[in-house]
Amino acid sequence: MQIAPIRTALLSWYERNARSFVWRKNTEPYVVLMAEILLKKTTAPAVDRFFPLFLERYPDVHTLHETPLCDLQKTLCPLGLSLQRAQQLKGLAKALVESFGGKIPSKREVLLELPGIGDYVAGAILSFACGMPEAIVDTNIARVIVRLFHIRPSHYEARRSPEVWDKARKLVGRNGRRSRRVNWAMLDLAAAVCKPKNPLHSECPLEKWCMFARQEHRGS
Ligand code: SF4
Repeated sequence: MQIAPIRTALLSWYERNARSFVWRKNTEPYVVLMAEILLKKTTAPAVDRFFPLFLERYPDVHTLHETPLCDLQKTLCPLGLSLQRAQQLKGLAKALVESFGGKIPSKREVLLELPGIGDYVAGAILSFACGMPEAIVDTNIARVIVRLFHIRPSHYEARRSPEVWDKARKLVGRNGRRSRRVNWAMLDLAAAVCKPKNPLHSECPLEKWCMFARQEHRGS
């Protein structure tokens, strides 16, 4: 299956349907990193409403590092986040200040050494903040890729499947500036169209290539 036309259709859909979030308008590494940590197990609209307050109180890594844990925990309360998330943010700020002078590294292997940063968050920083051609795969993007290419991850969870990551990398391609939009487009498509239940095939820009939609049409 040719990847380039799929990418073109996806990006054209994204031009008309892109969601607007604080961390997409401001792609400073610190902003992207904080947003990604807060987005774990929360919804994007909820984080978007809360994020300006968070950035006002903790505008940089040093401020976050110096903030008492109990204050941070109180700030995170409206988002329904636990003490554990506050501890995670504090641990991350400490590591960044002590090892990198408060700067966010821009190498995947270095990012992965930091507490609370896995493949998805590392990819998000490299793609969104650094403009590198890096793929991201979370549960939602994995769902789109599995359906589109009819991948059956054997013993891997879909979001960890090497086959799924390989397709995600091919979709992103080699152009850094474009990769950022491809990744955002995949996130937005998964949220609005390729939903976990009842995906909206007829509204999907990828329908004509999608193996899952083809199977469903045959079955109906
Ligand atoms: Fe998802 Fe349907 Fe689009 Fe395929 S055609 S990617 S299943 S919404």
